[in-house]
Formats: sequence, structure tokens, C-alpha cells
Amino acid sequence: MNIQDIHNLFLQCKSVSIDTRKIEANSMFFAIKGENFDANTFTQQALDLGALFVVIDNAAYFIDERTILVENSLETLQELAKFHRTYLGLPVIALTGSNGKTTTKELINVVLSKKFKTKATIGNLNNHIGVPLTILSFTKETELGIVEMGANHKKEIAFLCEIAQPDYGYITNFGKAHLEGFGGVEGVIQGKSEMYEYLVKNKKTAFINLEDPIQVDKSKAIQSFTFGLNKEQADIKIRSVETNPFVAIRYDGFAVQSNLIGLYNANNINAAVAIGTYFKVADNDIKSAIEAYTPDNNRSQLLKKGSNQIILDAYNANPSSMAVAIANFIQLDNQNKIMILGDMFELGNESEQEHKIIVDAVVGQDQSVCYLIGKAFYLHNISNEKVRFFETFDAFADFLKSIKLEDHTILIKGSRGMALERTLDYI
Ligand code: ATP
Ligand code: MG
Repeated sequence: MNIQDIHNLFLQCKSVSIDTRKIEANSMFFAIKGENFDANTFTQQALDLGALFVVIDNAAYFIDERTILVENSLETLQELAKFHRTYLGLPVIALTGSNGKTTTKELINVVLSKKFKTKATIGNLNNHIGVPLTILSFTKETELGIVEMGANHKKEIAFLCEIAQPDYGYITNFGKAHLEGFGGVEGVIQGKSEMYEYLVKNKKTAFINLEDPIQVDKSKAIQSFTFGLNKEQADIKIRSVETNPFVAIRYDGFAVQSNLIGLYNANNINAAVAIGTYFKVADNDIKSAIEAYTPDNNRSQLLKKGSNQIILDAYNANPSSMAVAIANFIQLDNQNKIMILGDMFELGNESEQEHKIIVDAVVGQDQSVCYLIGKAFYLHNISNEKVRFFETFDAFADFLKSIKLEDHTILIKGSRGMALERTLDYI
């Protein structure tokens, strides 16, 4: 069966599924081989649960005309997404970058949905499976598609661009994330820039933050729409950025008071304002959409626990996001500040050095007490009254049980694997 035939069957389905635990009636189920299981074994179960068709890549599981046998189910999913994207022909905006993709994607989506029927990546489904699933969620009614693309090694963004074929692209930043897979910062820059290469080659448009010299440098050959603080040549001029602690920004003609903390969110908001303006969403709608947006999933949330105020940013961490989070926290006016920071993962050979940089940063300031948790931080253990190291979360939890925190402002940040939101149970 060729891809067009499979697409015709797909059009009869309500959705696509790859997980029998989340399967919907009348869906097309793709039996993908994972590390721990082979979904071909769930073929019958998927049909029993209401799948209209099951795409399999093992002939042993062929049942009847409802099972579609292909060479490789994952590759078929990707080809089908590419075919569907061409078939619909709607404008697609793609986002990548080291930090801030999901936040920016959510902001862009709330802004553009003021004027268009949008469909955006759900949650963080941004990889070689998530991108196809996102595209296959677009329908004839969708007027604009917004696709988050993640990568932890080179050639991945190029590959995802071939599937999503974006008309517009934005790279949030080039930071120190997934250094292991990319082989250092230069590798990250090259890897993310694959999106610019796609946009140049296909004469598409990039949104550019003029405050980021790498974005400016790497996008010279591309048609662009720009924004920047006090940059007179920018299409969107930003007049001021403040944190109170929420980010508040003034543009020509209107101002935005967001519910996002962390100065780094200014870039994410600015990108959404620029893209909204480019697509001619009214200023007032851009403003109200951003002001109504509140983050969830442990991404820069402000919480109250007893008399303590907590900035919970425990969703993830890497050297760049850690550095901006610390810088932002240090400059807050609050009294009794505590930073609770967990190990940063996936740094390969750079791990020791990058943890040392963070240790030096917290030792070198006098604005906040700091607790560093995890094996990588512990390598640099020089506990004193201001900075304390804990090799494991359990050791830290024991320590927290022995003290009582009142009237503190607390930053919590670490890699997903550290699950530092557990700290909340002990405050
Ligand atoms: P992932 O790689 O997990 O998909 P992401 O790029 O989608 O991450 P977000 O989930 O939006 O990023 O944000 C994750 C964290 O990155 C935030 O909680 C914050 O600490 C940091 N961050 C967000 N935006 C920026 C930015 N523009 N620059 C630097 N750090 C940022
Ligand atoms: Mg994300």
C-alpha cells in the first residue's frame, strides 16, 4: 500500500494513536517498536479497543484488511505526516531552541488563537514521533499549525523540518542543553541552525530576536521579521522590560503584564508579540492573551506554602536555564532567599565543568542561601553556612525535616530526573 492509500484510510479515522492505554475509538494505531516492547504485539488489542486500522511492521501480526503491513511503522508515521502536511497546505510555524520552546509555543498559540483556528504541539511532544503526531492532529479546519521541535543531536532538526515543512521558524536561543548528544556548544549552534538552513533553502521567513547575536549572525541570509529591546531597526521595538517579579513589557502602543516569572521569559513573550503582530492579531488581543496565560507543569510557577513564597522551576534544567534562573533570583528584592538547585543531566564530558560554574556562581554571591543536591554538584562539595551540598535527595529531605522555613522566598530548579518538586512535601 502506498502512502497516499494509507492517507485515504487515515482520513476516515478520528485520530492517531501509538499507545493502547490512550487509544481512542476510530483511530489509526501505529505499532511502533520501542526499546522495551514491540507494539505489534498489541495489534488485536488495538482493534478490540476501537482502532479502525493498525499499521504493523511484522507480518506475523497480520489479521485482516484492518491491519496495514509496512516496512517500518515509525517511518510510515513520519511519511504520512509529511504527506498530510502537504495535503492540507496550511501555514506552519516551527519552533526550536535550547530553552523556552514550550513556553513560547504556548504563548504563540494563545495569541494566534485570538484570530485563527490553531493547532499546536500538545505538551512537550516534540521529537521524531511527537512532531508527526502533532501534524496528524491538523485538520481541514486548522488555519495555522504551531510545531515544537526538540533535538538532542545533529541532523534531527533538519529531519523534522522535512516532515513539518515550516513556512515560518523561530529559534528561541542557542544554549547549553543536551551537550552530550550535540558534542558541545558549537554542535548545539549547528544543530539548531539546521532550521535556518531549511528556511533559506525554501525562501521562508524567520522570526529573529535582535538581542541574540547568534540568531542575528546565523540568520543573515533569511527573510526575517525582527524584535528587540530599543533596537530602532527592529520590526517590533521593545521599550522596557521589568520584573515585579512577573515580567512586564512595554511596546510602542501597548504594554503587557504577564504571569510569568524570570527575566528570561521576556524573550518568550516578545516572540509571541512579534509573531502575533506579524499575523495581524490586534494589539489588545495580543495583550489579553498573554495576560491570561499562566504556566503549569512546574515551569516557573509562583506558589505559596505557609508563609513561604516558592518559585517552582523544577521541570528541567541545563547550564543556560540554570544561569538565567539564578541571575534572576539573585536580583529579586525579597528577604530570606534560598536557592534549591539539583543536578543538570545529559552534559557528558562537560558535566563537571558546568556544575563547577554554577557552584562558583552561588558561592560568589551573598544574596541567598543555597542548597545543592545531587551527585554532580556533590563532586564540588565545599559546604559552608551559606552553601550546603547533599549527595542525594533523601539526605536533603532529612535536612529539611530538621529545620523550619518561614517567610522565605525559595527557588527550586533541577533536571527532570531530580524531580525537585518533591521538596514541596517538606516545606
Ligand atoms: P524542553 O527541552 O524540555 O522541551 P523547552 O525548550 O520547551 O524545554 P520550556 O519548557 O519552555 O523549555 O522551559 C523550560 C525551562 O527553561 C524554564 O522553566 C526556564 O527555566 C528555562 N527557560 C525558559 N525560557 C527561557 C529562555 N528564553 N532562555 C533561557 N532559559 C529559558
Ligand atoms: Mg518543551
